Amino acid sequence: MLGPADRLEKYRQALLGLERRQAYIAAEVMALGRPRWVEGASTAYVTARDNQILLGFDPDWFDRLNWMELMGVLIHEAMHVVYRHVFARPPHDPWAAHRHNLACDAVINAPLFKPASTIRIP
Ligand SMILES: [Zn+2]
Repeated sequence: MLGPADRLEKYRQALLGLERRQAYIAAEVMALGRPRWVEGASTAYVTARDNQILLGFDPDWFDRLNWMELMGVLIHEAMHVVYRHVFARPPHDPWAAHRHNLACDAVINAPLFKPASTIRIP
């Protein structure tokens, strides 16, 4: 398990890797601000609250990501903001809300993570 400083350094290194590979997406990731570590979040998320975008990670899950996976997750979460998914009102029905989330994820993942890409999502 990484300590807080090592976790932030891993995050910073992933941002630097994105700057070298896909600078336009790195700018969107940097706009997400400093990540929050949320025990029990299970993976990563981005949400809008009080006109602020929040990026959160389950710390144990974050620690297990390799460098390329972390870059993929950061791109994925930033694209939820670019596509304005975080500002949409999901359906009230839990199953419909789940399908909505899956559709949002598919819209992001299909064009970004082609088989030839070196960036991976876990
Ligand atoms: Zn997603």
